Amino acid sequence: MEAINRIHHITAIVGDPNENLKFYRDVLGLRLIKQTVNFDDPGVYHLYFGDHNESPGTVITFFPWTNNNYGKKGSGQVGRIAFRVPKDSLNDWEKHLNAQNIQVEVTQLFGKNTLEFDDVHGLELAIVEGEAAADNNDILGFHGSVLLSGNPEGTKELLTGLMGLNELDRDDQNHHYETVGEEKHHIITSIPPQPAGRFGIGTVHHIAWSVPDMEVLKEWQSKLKKEGFGVTVVKDRNYFNSIYIGEKGNVVFEFATDGPGFDVDEDRESLGTALKLPKQYEHKRQEYETLLPKLDV
Ligand code: ZN
Repeated sequence: MEAINRIHHITAIVGDPNENLKFYRDVLGLRLIKQTVNFDDPGVYHLYFGDHNESPGTVITFFPWTNNNYGKKGSGQVGRIAFRVPKDSLNDWEKHLNAQNIQVEVTQLFGKNTLEFDDVHGLELAIVEGEAAADNNDILGFHGSVLLSGNPEGTKELLTGLMGLNELDRDDQNHHYETVGEEKHHIITSIPPQPAGRFGIGTVHHIAWSVPDMEVLKEWQSKLKKEGFGVTVVKDRNYFNSIYIGEKGNVVFEFATDGPGFDVDEDRESLGTALKLPKQYEHKRQEYETLLPKLDV
């Protein structure tokens, strides 16, 4: 089995879609690369953000709920999500966030200076410097994330076993791993487990791991089944294909193919500018366009 090289995307539940758009586009400088609906709950948007080239390992996606139903953070969820920024840009980021009245705390969560802050809906975020300098301060993609595992040893077994992550270090608070791909995404499981969380606004729904193609996805499906995990059928997500499992710490892991990509239904230049629906929902376009709040794109 090939090791997992990197995160494919992370998906969280947030509140008002325009507040979400303003935060990730205007404060963090990401690009809205897809407006679609939640394929499993199509009355809700599914908004995708990435860097300007929609590069792999940069995609964070949201289900913006307008029902005011806040979640409870806890085990069985992905915790704080960290973005990587160029070397020597952390001070500028701190100033930038302060200027937006965003409260920032500098910690050592990822084993080096980590700017911790929350998004407009209470989702826990962080910014960490990478090794390489750049001529601007733009977010380069994920640095990694915390997993609020209900069973850190069980989670470790999957991460360092089948998935091939390297363990970096551990103390009594955190175990620290990294993926083997060039992105070297950092994964932290927090110890000891917290009480169980409940999904809702301000919580992360799942983390998706990148697999190269459908053939490898099917290998993962049968391998995970053999290891005793409950594995879903392969789901067509239009821009990629996916399977889902609940890992031993109850965190939802998705395994997603790199292709076909976000340009299957719109030009790369116009990504994110219009509502895109998969075939099965196109006949209900008018209904969704009436129901969903207009986005200030
Ligand atoms: Zn997903």
